Amino acid sequence: MWLSGGRMASVGRQSFGSCFRVLGRRGCNTAAVMPEAAGFEGVSDRSDLQDFSVCSSDSFWAAVARQRLSWIRPFHTVQDCDLSQGRIRWFEGGKLNVSVNCLDRHVHTCPERVAVIWERDEPKSEVKLSYRQLLEMTCRLGNLLRRRGVKKGDCVTIYMPPCPLAVASMLACARIGAAHNVVFAGFSADALAERIRDAQSSTVITVNQGVRGGKVIELKKTVDAAIQSCPTVQQVFVAMRTENPVVMTAKDVAMEEEMAKEDTVCEPAGMDSEDTLFLLYTSGSTGKPKGLVHTQAGYLLYAALTHRYVFSYHDGDVFSCVADIGWITGHSYSVYGPLANGGTTVLFESTPIYPDPGRYWEMVQRLKINQFYGAPTAIRLLLKYGDKWVHKYDRSTLKTLGSVGEPINTEAWEWYHRVVGQGRCPVVDTWWQTETGGICIAPRPADPDAEIVPGMAMRPFFGIKPVLMDTEGKVVTSNDTSGALCIAQPWPGMARTIHNDPQRFTETYCQPYPGYFFTGDGAYRSKEGYYQITGRLDDVINVSGHRIGTAEIEDVLNQCSAVAESAVIGFSHSIKGQGIYAFVVLKKSIDVQEADVTRQINDMASKKIAKYACPDYIQFAQRLPKTRSGKIMRRVLRKVVDSELEGLGDLSTLDDPEVVQEIIQGHHDLLSKQQPQ
Ligand code: AMP
Repeated sequence: MWLSGGRMASVGRQSFGSCFRVLGRRGCNTAAVMPEAAGFEGVSDRSDLQDFSVCSSDSFWAAVARQRLSWIRPFHTVQDCDLSQGRIRWFEGGKLNVSVNCLDRHVHTCPERVAVIWERDEPKSEVKLSYRQLLEMTCRLGNLLRRRGVKKGDCVTIYMPPCPLAVASMLACARIGAAHNVVFAGFSADALAERIRDAQSSTVITVNQGVRGGKVIELKKTVDAAIQSCPTVQQVFVAMRTENPVVMTAKDVAMEEEMAKEDTVCEPAGMDSEDTLFLLYTSGSTGKPKGLVHTQAGYLLYAALTHRYVFSYHDGDVFSCVADIGWITGHSYSVYGPLANGGTTVLFESTPIYPDPGRYWEMVQRLKINQFYGAPTAIRLLLKYGDKWVHKYDRSTLKTLGSVGEPINTEAWEWYHRVVGQGRCPVVDTWWQTETGGICIAPRPADPDAEIVPGMAMRPFFGIKPVLMDTEGKVVTSNDTSGALCIAQPWPGMARTIHNDPQRFTETYCQPYPGYFFTGDGAYRSKEGYYQITGRLDDVINVSGHRIGTAEIEDVLNQCSAVAESAVIGFSHSIKGQGIYAFVVLKKSIDVQEADVTRQINDMASKKIAKYACPDYIQFAQRLPKTRSGKIMRRVLRKVVDSELEGLGDLSTLDDPEVVQEIIQGHHDLLSKQQPQ
């Protein structure tokens, strides 16, 4: 019934290359396409440039860093990296300020250019801010943070929906040298508290209430609840997103009122290239989220370069990444990449179906969007509503369509290309992750007439050398084969470590394949040498593009008083990409109704993590299939849920093979009585 999460989507072999022919293949002038490449010796076409970026990586990145970023002091060493040791350092000796790179230098050349278009939840009520206005807002906030004691090296937690003040908060931290820790405003109080504690923040920035899909969300109340268990928090800045007053405590600071008292000039801190720019928490295969650390120069450079070249972003274009700023996609492609390039970026506060399923395309028409970057889960949802919602609006401004967060199936890709993009916009399926800082594999940049294969990320970005590993840890050299996806050499955008846990960083990413960065994903390399991501290799699932560890959910389930043990797995879901399937064994000593436990589990999952962590299915079982040493055989559970009963594999190591029949029967009974939630 369901496809296995890890199984490859079928790949249509159609090529859409001919639709994009602009320049002749060999006649393409590299320096015209990428001015930074003008001085590279022996580089006359795009493929030379890719080789140069990998084989002469120091020369490539040095030239790009000098030309793309404004430095207070130039760097003396391009890179000092040793992946086997987990040492990653770029542009040492250099000093710069990220907010100056994102704001001041554009204010000098084009102060009135629109930096941010805030597409508020309320339809047709967008707000535009010029670079001058965004710099002023950032400076006032930077001064306020400084006046209230935030210092270089502190970490400020930001719990806000996408809005200009959230962007200004990120940039104000960068201006004064504080790190930021943006927490997705859909996370619960417990999840927020865990991240505040780990980041040791003394300052939190939030809004009184959020508004999404026409509903009011009590964000300040969530912060109030979270900081009860965060002794480090001394102050909470509260901005007013709605007009409704909220109860202010002694720790709370009325943000806009206080900002109004501040100067619009704020001295930028000179930051070392390797100082922390931000922490961003993401899920791993244990119950504890990891705070990945990104630093100043390398991250900014990589976000800017990928934004420019993957999406063919040009001056004057309007770029719209509809991800929330609480995820890495929002960081790199709603904020840092576009602003470093002096671009116009749209911040999307709403949902794809509010007030109706035409929301994205009405926005494209009204704001004259040129590049649209979204998630497969939303595309699949909109596809189900039919073409009429797309056809209603003029999409002639669109030039590039992007996809991110999870594999995009061929049907969704083709609909996106044919219906949304009218068959004339390249669709770029971009593969990357919180750890990589920016896009690593995508169909573009490439020669303008190079083919794009539906549902495939395809080509490595400049400086990226992907490799596939076999089960013995050896590099697979042939094509038309699959393996564990690693990256063979460092690049400036990669995360440097895990906050408070450098050991976990090396163990997770550097030790599985010594000398290589292990992504945790599997990939297939086609006969032509193109990459297609096949899914996670670890116990991490991807629900609507949100990454979550099965262990995180199990931790929550096991906290329910009636639950003896549980096992959580992902399954293929037609809209969400993957759904959550939980097997639960109840304590024998407790007399409870399954319906009550289901309610309790859902409450706990939303309270401890977020709504998207609630299981789609809960199967109550007498016991779970285990090896004689007591390990749960998740492989068997996955096969049952995927209806692959033929391929259950070797069951001889099971403690009691009869359990499998009970599980199969239970699964069958559950499906016959329940639709997914
Ligand atoms: P996150 O760090 O939350 O952005 O999640 C990163 C993970 O999402 C990756 O490790 C992949 O498993 C998945 N992912 C992101 N982009 C793609 C893509 N274009 N195709 C397939 N999987 C993707």
